[in-house]
Amino acid sequence: ERTVERIAAGEVVERPASVVKELVENSLDADASRIDVAVTGNGTDHIEVADDGRGMSAADVRAAVQQHTTSKIGDIDDLTDGVGTLGFRGEALYTIGAVARMTVASRPRSGDGAGTELRMVGGEIESVEPTGRPPGTTVTVEDLFFNTPARRKYLKTDATEFGHVNRVVTRYALANPSVAVSLSHDGNRVFATTGQGDLREAMLAVYGRDVAESMISVEYEGAAAAVEGYVSDPETTRSAREYVSTYVNDRYVRDGDLRGAIVSAYGTQLAADRYPFAALFVEVPPERVDVNVHPRKMEVRFDEEDAVYDAVESAVEDALLDHGL
Ligand code: ADP
Ligand code: MG
Repeated sequence: ERTVERIAAGEVVERPASVVKELVENSLDADASRIDVAVTGNGTDHIEVADDGRGMSAADVRAAVQQHTTSKIGDIDDLTDGVGTLGFRGEALYTIGAVARMTVASRPRSGDGAGTELRMVGGEIESVEPTGRPPGTTVTVEDLFFNTPARRKYLKTDATEFGHVNRVVTRYALANPSVAVSLSHDGNRVFATTGQGDLREAMLAVYGRDVAESMISVEYEGAAAAVEGYVSDPETTRSAREYVSTYVNDRYVRDGDLRGAIVSAYGTQLAADRYPFAALFVEVPPERVDVNVHPRKMEVRFDEEDAVYDAVESAVEDALLDHGL
């Protein structure tokens, strides 16, 4: 079957972190004010994402796990302009349900709708039963890739796979400081944001006090881009690039040139192969950026890329200068 082939090829759900990404996005889309993510081992045994969002009625839960069902208008627009490259709108729950044992438990936030629990195994609905639970949705994914051994074999160590999960949850936690986001691994709390604060507070929760206190605020208005967020002082660095988080129009992007622009703002203050901590939000006019270049790889293409990268470099330089750095 085509879906299973695509999954086996890693085109859709690549690894446990991809599951977490889709579930957290759904919780954010459902207007959740708290999202709790729990993962065991490398994530194939157990992933749970619980939210207090809008929730679903029994009929909504049934519809949600069908292929190509989406309640999201924006996604219907996507469908008309060639979602072929994306291949994923309205398919996350369906696809995850095809390669795991998945339970979707939900209760609508409004009205007097009761709770529903649907169990799906390898793409087949096994049961749909009423359940008592608070409003919101909890999706549990167990035995991920049990029926696609090739996918399973491709996974790396627990530490590597959980590292991917951690980065995914971190990037949504930083972009949504008004949502209380928590992550636990093997029963241990990794971080929890309060949902009450701003970006600095979210960074404190995620990266700890030393890093949070080293953060310098960035605020810049240029012709090509506006830039805001935080970067660490040049003393607070790591040898891994993963602590540089960049967002374009509020969407996380992985862009080596954006990261390069941040790094070059430090000049010689940054030792070779060291990276600062950063959470930078770049705003560009939406018509001057193509976010659909390669959506699953989180890449973008700017119309005036040099001007955007220059703006980011200047934004960070100015912030460092303001701090006498
Ligand atoms: P998409 O997000 O592209 O619509 P999904 O397969 O991820 O596709 O989800 C299908 C539908 O299920 C969503 O459009 C939404 O209506 C519903 N849904 C999924 N997760 C949640 C959730 N956490 N809370 C409320 N509704 C949800
Ligand atoms: Mg979705």
